[in-house]
Amino acid sequence: MIKIENVTKKFGQTEVLKDLNGQVQKGQVICVIGPSGGGKSTFLRCLNLLEQPTSGKISFEGQELTSLSEAQINHLREKMGMVFQSFNLFSNMTVLDNVQLAPLKVKKLAAATAKKTAMQLLAQVGLADKAENYPSSLSGGQQQRVAIARALAMNPDVMLFDEPTSALDPEMVGEVLTVMQDLANQGMTMVVVTHEMGFAKSVANQVWFMDGGVFAEKGTPTQIFEHPQNERTKAFLAKIL
Ligand code: ADP
Ligand code: MG
Repeated sequence: MIKIENVTKKFGQTEVLKDLNGQVQKGQVICVIGPSGGGKSTFLRCLNLLEQPTSGKISFEGQELTSLSEAQINHLREKMGMVFQSFNLFSNMTVLDNVQLAPLKVKKLAAATAKKTAMQLLAQVGLADKAENYPSSLSGGQQQRVAIARALAMNPDVMLFDEPTSALDPEMVGEVLTVMQDLANQGMTMVVVTHEMGFAKSVANQVWFMDGGVFAEKGTPTQIFEHPQNERTKAFLAKIL
């Protein structure tokens, strides 16, 4: 579904992504782990062209991203849902309106259809009873679940998560991870930057350890967590586990 070939990214003279390669197959969950500043967010943002790679190729469903027009890029972004650390909900809109906005405005769905889908998604994330609430009246965990429903409302082929639980109080982390686990169980293709090693262990098909702008090591959760080969992986895991 996604192919990454020799991708580099420079900010000025600083190379923050160095010759990255990888593939994400349909239905896979890839967890990207690693120390702060290693390039995880930049990598994720390159996947949907929120950042333009300096060199290299990224293909999505057989199309090379760097060759696309602006209109094609916008269409492609609809197929890639993204959830950030900060929930970024529209504070002046109800939960329902947050979820149905893009389907109404971008996909031009009929009002009844958009609402029905939005209500189904809110039920899926356990928040059907909050549809008429405003985001400020919700907990952080609830807001992040709305953000996930909003991303799903565009019916994406892949979901990108950038530390979706890092801004949450500890007691709210579980409810968001449960929603993500359900999504994975339903077969959603996901790339998840996370510090939640329990989630990575139990849900990921592949764990990519990123440090200093390179994938220092990739493997199954068992390989990475039980038998890390790379010294930097070992040092990182020793610090956090
Ligand atoms: P991570 O998500 O793993 O913490 P980031 O991708 O956010 O890492 O950052 C990788 C490196 O790129 C860091 O050194 C960061 O300071 C730098 N960086 C990220 N975004 C920018 C930017 N827009 N301009 C300049 N440097 C940036
Ligand atoms: Mg980051």
